[in-house]
Amino acid sequence: MPSPIAHGSLLLLAAPSVRPRVAALPAWRRGLFWMALLFALLAPDFDIALGLLLGYGPFELHGGAMHSLFLAPVFGVLWAAATRVVVFRGLSTEQTQSPFRWTTLWVLGTAAYAAHVGMDWLTPGRGVGLFWPINDLRWGSPIKLFVGVEHSNWRDWGHHVLTLGTEGAFAFAVWLIGIWVARQRDRADAAVTGQHPEPVA
Ligand SMILES: [Zn+2]
Repeated sequence: MPSPIAHGSLLLLAAPSVRPRVAALPAWRRGLFWMALLFALLAPDFDIALGLLLGYGPFELHGGAMHSLFLAPVFGVLWAAATRVVVFRGLSTEQTQSPFRWTTLWVLGTAAYAAHVGMDWLTPGRGVGLFWPINDLRWGSPIKLFVGVEHSNWRDWGHHVLTLGTEGAFAFAVWLIGIWVARQRDRADAAVTGQHPEPVA
Protein backbone atom coordinates (compact mmCIF):
# COMPACT_ATOMS: atom_id res chain seq x y z
CA MET A 1 0.00 0.00 0.00
CA PRO A 2 1.22 3.54 -0.65
CA SER A 3 1.65 5.80 2.38
CA PRO A 4 -0.91 8.48 3.37
CA ILE A 5 1.33 10.93 1.43
CA ALA A 6 0.32 9.46 -1.94
CA HIS A 7 -3.32 8.91 -0.91
CA GLY A 8 -3.64 12.40 0.61
CA SER A 9 -1.94 14.04 -2.38
CA LEU A 10 -5.13 13.53 -4.39
CA LEU A 11 -6.40 16.56 -2.43
CA LEU A 12 -4.02 18.54 -4.68
CA LEU A 13 -5.78 17.10 -7.71
CA ALA A 14 -9.19 18.14 -6.42
CA ALA A 15 -8.14 21.48 -4.93
CA PRO A 16 -8.19 23.77 -8.00
CA SER A 17 -11.68 22.54 -8.97
CA VAL A 18 -13.14 22.36 -5.45
CA ARG A 19 -11.65 25.57 -4.05
CA PRO A 20 -13.91 27.99 -5.98
CA ARG A 21 -16.97 26.04 -4.80
CA VAL A 22 -16.07 26.42 -1.12
CA ALA A 23 -14.62 29.95 -1.42
CA ALA A 24 -17.80 31.62 -0.11
CA LEU A 25 -17.98 29.42 3.01
CA PRO A 26 -16.64 30.53 6.42
CA ALA A 27 -13.08 29.36 7.10
CA TRP A 28 -14.11 26.72 9.67
CA ARG A 29 -16.55 25.11 7.23
CA ARG A 30 -13.87 25.14 4.51
CA GLY A 31 -11.41 23.51 6.93
CA LEU A 32 -13.94 20.85 7.89
CA PHE A 33 -14.69 20.13 4.25
CA TRP A 34 -11.01 19.58 3.38
CA MET A 35 -10.65 17.33 6.44
CA ALA A 36 -13.72 15.35 5.35
CA LEU A 37 -12.23 14.92 1.87
CA LEU A 38 -8.89 13.78 3.32
CA PHE A 39 -10.79 11.31 5.51
CA ALA A 40 -12.54 9.88 2.40
CA LEU A 41 -9.16 9.43 0.68
CA LEU A 42 -7.78 7.48 3.68
CA ALA A 43 -11.00 5.74 4.82
CA PRO A 44 -10.32 2.17 3.54
CA ASP A 45 -7.22 2.01 5.77
CA PHE A 46 -9.36 2.27 8.88
CA ASP A 47 -9.48 -1.52 8.52
CA ILE A 48 -6.20 -1.37 10.52
CA ALA A 49 -8.12 0.13 13.48
CA LEU A 50 -10.97 -2.32 12.89
CA GLY A 51 -8.53 -5.25 13.04
CA LEU A 52 -7.15 -3.96 16.34
CA LEU A 53 -10.66 -3.38 17.73
CA LEU A 54 -11.82 -6.88 16.80
CA GLY A 55 -8.65 -8.49 18.16
CA TYR A 56 -7.22 -9.66 14.82
CA GLY A 57 -4.12 -7.43 15.04
CA PRO A 58 -3.33 -4.43 12.82
CA PHE A 59 -2.72 -6.09 9.45
CA GLU A 60 -4.92 -9.21 9.35
CA LEU A 61 -7.97 -7.39 7.89
CA HIS A 62 -5.88 -4.69 6.17
CA GLY A 63 -6.46 -4.55 2.40
CA GLY A 64 -9.37 -7.03 2.59
CA ALA A 65 -13.12 -6.39 2.65
CA MET A 66 -12.82 -2.66 3.33
CA HIS A 67 -10.81 -2.32 0.11
CA SER A 68 -13.73 -3.59 -1.98
CA LEU A 69 -14.86 -1.45 -4.92
CA PHE A 70 -18.45 -2.34 -4.01
CA LEU A 71 -18.08 -0.42 -0.75
CA ALA A 72 -17.11 2.80 -2.57
CA PRO A 73 -20.65 3.88 -3.62
CA VAL A 74 -22.02 2.85 -0.19
CA PHE A 75 -19.32 4.90 1.50
CA GLY A 76 -20.19 7.75 -0.92
CA VAL A 77 -23.78 7.85 0.41
CA LEU A 78 -22.66 7.85 4.07
CA TRP A 79 -19.96 10.44 3.40
CA ALA A 80 -22.36 12.74 1.50
CA ALA A 81 -24.90 12.51 4.34
CA ALA A 82 -22.29 13.12 7.07
CA THR A 83 -20.75 16.02 5.13
CA ARG A 84 -24.13 17.67 4.64
CA VAL A 85 -24.80 17.43 8.38
CA VAL A 86 -21.35 18.31 9.71
CA VAL A 87 -20.08 20.85 7.17
CA PHE A 88 -23.17 22.42 5.59
CA ARG A 89 -25.68 22.38 8.47
CA GLY A 90 -27.43 25.72 8.99
CA LEU A 91 -26.56 27.16 5.58
CA SER A 92 -29.24 28.49 3.26
CA THR A 93 -30.45 26.20 0.50
CA GLU A 94 -28.88 28.49 -2.08
CA GLN A 95 -25.46 28.36 -0.39
CA THR A 96 -25.46 24.57 -0.13
CA GLN A 97 -27.49 23.35 -3.06
CA SER A 98 -25.78 25.13 -5.87
CA PRO A 99 -22.13 24.28 -5.14
CA PHE A 100 -22.73 20.90 -3.47
CA ARG A 101 -25.73 18.96 -4.58
CA TRP A 102 -26.23 15.48 -3.11
CA THR A 103 -25.02 13.87 -6.33
CA THR A 104 -21.84 16.01 -6.39
CA LEU A 105 -20.99 14.98 -2.83
CA TRP A 106 -21.79 11.34 -3.55
CA VAL A 107 -19.53 11.33 -6.62
CA LEU A 108 -16.73 13.00 -4.63
CA GLY A 109 -16.95 10.53 -1.69
CA THR A 110 -17.25 7.50 -3.99
CA ALA A 111 -14.37 8.63 -6.22
CA ALA A 112 -12.10 9.33 -3.22
CA TYR A 113 -12.73 5.87 -1.73
CA ALA A 114 -12.35 4.07 -5.09
CA ALA A 115 -9.16 6.02 -5.89
CA HIS A 116 -7.61 4.78 -2.64
CA VAL A 117 -8.47 1.17 -3.55
CA GLY A 118 -7.09 1.65 -7.06
CA MET A 119 -3.80 3.05 -5.74
CA ASP A 120 -3.39 0.09 -3.35
CA TRP A 121 -4.08 -2.25 -6.27
CA LEU A 122 -1.16 -0.59 -8.08
CA THR A 123 1.23 -1.31 -5.17
CA PRO A 124 3.24 -4.48 -4.43
CA GLY A 125 2.00 -6.53 -1.49
CA ARG A 126 -0.81 -8.93 -0.68
CA GLY A 127 -3.23 -7.25 -3.11
CA VAL A 128 -6.68 -5.92 -2.20
CA GLY A 129 -10.12 -7.51 -1.82
CA LEU A 130 -11.53 -5.67 -4.84
CA PHE A 131 -14.66 -7.78 -5.24
CA TRP A 132 -15.67 -8.63 -1.68
CA PRO A 133 -18.32 -9.94 -0.86
CA ILE A 134 -18.55 -11.77 -4.23
CA ASN A 135 -15.20 -13.38 -3.40
CA ASP A 136 -12.47 -13.08 -0.75
CA LEU A 137 -9.59 -13.09 -3.23
CA ARG A 138 -6.96 -10.37 -3.16
CA TRP A 139 -6.06 -8.74 -6.44
CA GLY A 140 -2.93 -6.85 -7.48
CA SER A 141 -2.15 -5.04 -10.71
CA PRO A 142 0.52 -6.68 -12.90
CA ILE A 143 1.96 -3.17 -13.32
CA LYS A 144 2.95 -1.31 -10.17
CA LEU A 145 2.96 2.47 -9.78
CA PHE A 146 4.09 2.72 -6.14
CA VAL A 147 6.78 0.97 -4.10
CA GLY A 148 4.59 0.92 -0.98
CA VAL A 149 5.26 1.17 2.75
CA GLU A 150 7.56 -1.40 4.36
CA HIS A 151 5.59 -2.68 7.40
CA SER A 152 7.48 -5.83 8.23
CA ASN A 153 11.00 -4.37 8.46
CA TRP A 154 10.97 -0.88 9.94
CA ARG A 155 14.78 -0.66 9.76
CA ASP A 156 14.79 -0.81 5.98
CA TRP A 157 15.60 2.91 5.73
CA GLY A 158 16.53 2.63 2.04
CA HIS A 159 12.97 1.53 1.30
CA HIS A 160 11.49 4.38 3.37
CA VAL A 161 13.60 6.91 1.44
CA LEU A 162 12.45 5.33 -1.84
CA THR A 163 8.80 5.52 -0.67
CA LEU A 164 9.16 9.17 0.33
CA GLY A 165 10.97 10.11 -2.89
CA THR A 166 8.59 8.38 -5.30
CA GLU A 167 5.45 9.48 -3.48
CA GLY A 168 6.75 13.06 -3.25
CA ALA A 169 7.26 12.97 -7.03
CA PHE A 170 3.75 11.51 -7.45
CA ALA A 171 2.26 14.31 -5.29
CA PHE A 172 4.09 16.92 -7.40
CA ALA A 173 2.78 15.39 -10.64
CA VAL A 174 -0.75 15.28 -9.20
CA TRP A 175 -0.47 18.95 -8.24
CA LEU A 176 0.54 19.89 -11.81
CA ILE A 177 -2.34 17.85 -13.28
CA GLY A 178 -4.78 19.57 -10.88
CA ILE A 179 -3.63 22.99 -12.10
CA TRP A 180 -3.89 21.91 -15.73
CA VAL A 181 -7.44 20.57 -15.23
CA ALA A 182 -8.53 23.82 -13.54
CA ARG A 183 -7.08 25.88 -16.42
CA GLN A 184 -8.91 23.76 -18.98
CA ARG A 185 -12.14 24.33 -17.05
CA ASP A 186 -11.52 28.09 -16.86
CA ARG A 187 -10.93 28.18 -20.62
CA ALA A 188 -14.16 26.24 -21.25
CA ASP A 189 -16.07 28.60 -18.91
CA ALA A 190 -14.57 31.63 -20.67
CA ALA A 191 -15.55 30.21 -24.07
CA VAL A 192 -19.15 29.80 -22.87
CA THR A 193 -19.38 33.31 -21.40
CA GLY A 194 -17.39 34.88 -24.25
CA GLN A 195 -14.69 36.19 -21.91
CA HIS A 196 -10.98 35.70 -22.33
CA PRO A 197 -9.31 33.55 -19.65
CA GLU A 198 -6.55 34.96 -17.47
CA PRO A 199 -3.21 34.78 -19.31
CA VAL A 200 -1.25 31.66 -18.37
CA ALA A 201 1.77 32.64 -16.29
ZN1 LIG B 1 -5.43 1.04 1.72
